[in-house]
Amino acid sequence: MVEISFDFKEKLDTTIGGEMHSYCFQCGACVGDCPSARYSKRGFNPRRIVLQTIVGMEEVLLEEGSIIWECTNCYNCYERCPQDVRPVEVITAMKNMAAKRETNPEDVRSMVKTVETKGMTTVLTALVDKRRVDLGLKTLKEIPVSDIQELLTEKER
Ligand code: SF4
Ligand code: SF4
Repeated sequence: MVEISFDFKEKLDTTIGGEMHSYCFQCGACVGDCPSARYSKRGFNPRRIVLQTIVGMEEVLLEEGSIIWECTNCYNCYERCPQDVRPVEVITAMKNMAAKRETNPEDVRSMVKTVETKGMTTVLTALVDKRRVDLGLKTLKEIPVSDIQELLTEKER
């Protein structure tokens, strides 16, 4: 049985990125140019996801393994939506909600940790260096992360 949350709409209305979700009139324009909708094996569909927000399917959308994580953040839907719903930003708002519940994917959590500690999304290893050199790129250096850590601490306050 699907659990319906009657206050999910209000929660999204007051979350950055989620404010416009209820303006969706289900035209489907966002789906036509969505790469995840084209290749998803689980039927990823931004129109359906926005509909699920409107009917209050909070638990389905924020649970571990939720389909929202198949969004690539390409922003094609943002460009296409005639209602300015900004589906990608609605999805990002829900990703942030999921992160607070710690139902976001383990690899995303690990990448966030790397950003916090290294200031970049990739851990520098000899293999990364080799691949960069093979591609004709310079190797990367460790960077000072104190500014990033300060910003993250500010945000948490
Ligand atoms: S941002 Fe996400 S939902 Fe929007 S078109 Fe790209 S993959 Fe699809
Ligand atoms: S394009 Fe906009 S209005 Fe149309 S279904 Fe997608 S989110 Fe809803």
